[in-house]
Amino acid sequence: MTEHAVVIAGGGPAGMMLAAELALAKVDVAVVERRPDHVLVGSRAGGLHSRTIEVLDQRGVADRFLAEGQVAQAATFGTTVLDMSDFPTRHPYALGIWQNHIERIMAAWIAELPVHIYYGREVTGFAQDDTGVDVRLSDGEPLRAHYLVGCDGGRSLIRTAAGIEFPGWDPTRSNLIAEVELTEEPPQGVRHDAAGVHGLHRMEDGRTFRVVVTEQQLGPGSEPTLRDLSETLITVYGTDFGIHNPTWISRFTDMTRQAAAYRDRRVLLAGDAAHVHYPAGGQGLSLGVQDAVNLGWKLAQVVKGTSQESLLDTYHAERHPVAARALQHTMAQGALQRRDERIKALVDVVSELASMDEPRKRLAGIVSGLDIHYDLGEGHPLLGRRMPDLDLVTANGPLRVFTLLHDARPLLLDFGEPGDFDITPWADRVRLVDAEYAGVWELPVIGAVTAPTAVLIRPDGYVAWVGDPADPGLADALTTWFGPPTAA
Ligand SMILES: Cc1cc2nc3c(=O)[nH]c(=O)nc-3n(C[C@H](O)[C@H](O)[C@H](O)COP(=O)(O)OP(=O)(O)OC[C@H]3O[C@@H](n4cnc5c(N)ncnc54)[C@H](O)[C@@H]3O)c2cc1C
Repeated sequence: MTEHAVVIAGGGPAGMMLAAELALAKVDVAVVERRPDHVLVGSRAGGLHSRTIEVLDQRGVADRFLAEGQVAQAATFGTTVLDMSDFPTRHPYALGIWQNHIERIMAAWIAELPVHIYYGREVTGFAQDDTGVDVRLSDGEPLRAHYLVGCDGGRSLIRTAAGIEFPGWDPTRSNLIAEVELTEEPPQGVRHDAAGVHGLHRMEDGRTFRVVVTEQQLGPGSEPTLRDLSETLITVYGTDFGIHNPTWISRFTDMTRQAAAYRDRRVLLAGDAAHVHYPAGGQGLSLGVQDAVNLGWKLAQVVKGTSQESLLDTYHAERHPVAARALQHTMAQGALQRRDERIKALVDVVSELASMDEPRKRLAGIVSGLDIHYDLGEGHPLLGRRMPDLDLVTANGPLRVFTLLHDARPLLLDFGEPGDFDITPWADRVRLVDAEYAGVWELPVIGAVTAPTAVLIRPDGYVAWVGDPADPGLADALTTWFGPPTAA
């Protein structure tokens, strides 16, 4: 039987990101993807939010996405654009780039890494025991893994087979989404009515239009047809603009659900397999990529025996609340898309509030993912928050913090006297860099914070400890996050 340390079911954005993280950590990882190759039919998600661009930057690949997309102030709440150009990040914007291009770029990246991909096969079931998981594939060839991660989307077989509950809210409304050609020139842009939001946009090829329309009644679970789309367009616009030649027609709903547990022993969930919601605000893909970045290094350390299995529990503890908040916000945003007179009054009030400075920053912090704060206890404001990408001066010359994270290893940055720290018992895992930084320390939403003497940064870019050489807490933090000290 073929064995891998980790098998990932599903090679969408979450699965590919997780595969990259594990491969960077030198873990034998395989992805099983139902599609025959990475090509995604239809454009689906429209882009990446700021923190997701940052995590790609932490791995040195953000430029590949930036080169093909368009940066814009595109974080929104309801109808209000949340201008975040004043946020202290190298990427104070969202990146407009369709999901099929995102997946193409990600697939090219993981092709450069030691990731084994089984295309054209499905995971059909699994059985876990104390030492591993037997993974059944549609072609009958079994795989054996230490861990199985379900990145298999909202209808996750892995989640269902693991018996993990998926509580939440049933759909109340549905949208048709399609890429079609038109014979009549449509009005461009977005339209709101009592049913919800509708819009037609010309795609980059100049010929195809992306159409999104809200159905008058909740649609069935079956695949929609061109006729369904035509009828809904006529109801909303009075004409179907002569739609023809569809390359993609799909339906999505406002169903909002979240896995009750992100882990059942040797089986974990990430991305849409762990949470589904209405795409208002465009956060789904970004959430999944960040789940993967949170899980990857932890799973790698557990697989290698560096850390206890209990480290995996911090994955649920940290990521479940982040998605729960996103679900709450997408439900609120979905409600604001309906436009009878009463909702319009609410939209006006919310828009006014959201354009004020403090609410704008708070909402932009949430939508962008830049305000994420994992609960790592009391202390300096940096603790549990993302490490800013500072311009450092080191013995090797000027260096960005994110450059030091490219290989996904833990990092202790010492801004004090060189030689202050001795982390020899962790030197095989944690890199110590003496650095100088003369600028202001500033966090999105929070503002300026006091300059720390030293920071311990996890591979996902979140700060695990802040202190000075006299702080005995450093040894605890190193042990908690990166395993016990190696004996001399
Ligand atoms: C119509 C539509 C519009 C959307 N619009 C937006 C948007 O504007 N903005 C936004 O951020 N998000 C949007 N989303 C959501 C976004 O597409 C998802 O959040 C994102 O794709 C989740 O990534 P994922 O990797 O978790 O799951 P998916 O992208 O669903 O990937 C799952 C992968 O698993 C594979 N798979 C499934 N089952 C198996 C199995 N048993 N064995 C092997 N492989 C399997 C599938 O083929 C797929 O490649 C939209 C989604 C839809 C459907």
